[in-house]
Amino acid sequence: MNSKPIVAGNWKMHKTVQDGVSFVGEIKNRVLDKAKAKVIFCPPFTALFSIVETLKGTDFGVGAQNVHFEAQGAFTGEISIEMLKSTGLDYVILGHSERRHVFGESDTFINRKIHAVLNSGLVPIFCIGETLDDRKAGRTIVVLEGQITLGLDGLDSIDHNRMIIAYEPVWAIGTGETASVEQVVEAHASVKDILSGMFEENANEVPILYGGSVNENNAAELIETKGVDGFLIGGASLKEDSFCSIIEIVSKFYKG
Ligand code: PEP
Repeated sequence: MNSKPIVAGNWKMHKTVQDGVSFVGEIKNRVLDKAKAKVIFCPPFTALFSIVETLKGTDFGVGAQNVHFEAQGAFTGEISIEMLKSTGLDYVILGHSERRHVFGESDTFINRKIHAVLNSGLVPIFCIGETLDDRKAGRTIVVLEGQITLGLDGLDSIDHNRMIIAYEPVWAIGTGETASVEQVVEAHASVKDILSGMFEENANEVPILYGGSVNENNAAELIETKGVDGFLIGGASLKEDSFCSIIEIVSKFYKG
């Protein structure tokens, strides 16, 4: 993919088509230093096609927030990979904590999506992270290991150009509480170790994003943290000023 830091915005269930198109149009004109960070917008399904069209000819990326692994059929309310691909996007968020905890997606269910997305040529943004109870019980690394080994089960290899991992402690998502630098360093190093144990090549180079209440005030410290290759951002990705500030900070402070 690239060695640039990645700034991905997960809009969750926010913004209409019109709001989304005007938002990315503004950001497209504002983010001048496009060479230094890979920016990916992940709007709701309804806005995907129009946003891809708005961003045509730019380096901005577009991703979906979910997908079903079946190619087609009687799956009311679901969306297939071909449908997503027909919008022209490149990325799909999988295993987000809200999918796991609100909609009950299991590791094995997410694993089927990972396989389907990789087979299609799209790039998964594979989310993992422990709950507060897990952390309090000292189970963070065990939980990450389980999510990674089950989520990536059955893959023969991993391509750092075609996989993004997002470490998102569940207790930090949308709470205003971020993981400490020490917690992020430990989690990201563990993710790298787990990947290296599973896959011989390239595992070390898979980009690992941090997610969980990233904003313009904590972005500099977090992007300078060892092992952090960028961010997956919820709340702050919905606000033009905040999102642009974070992109600028990441472009300036990322050391790689
Ligand atoms: C997210 O939804 O992936 C996320 C990290 O949200 P927030 O930045 O709002 O914590």
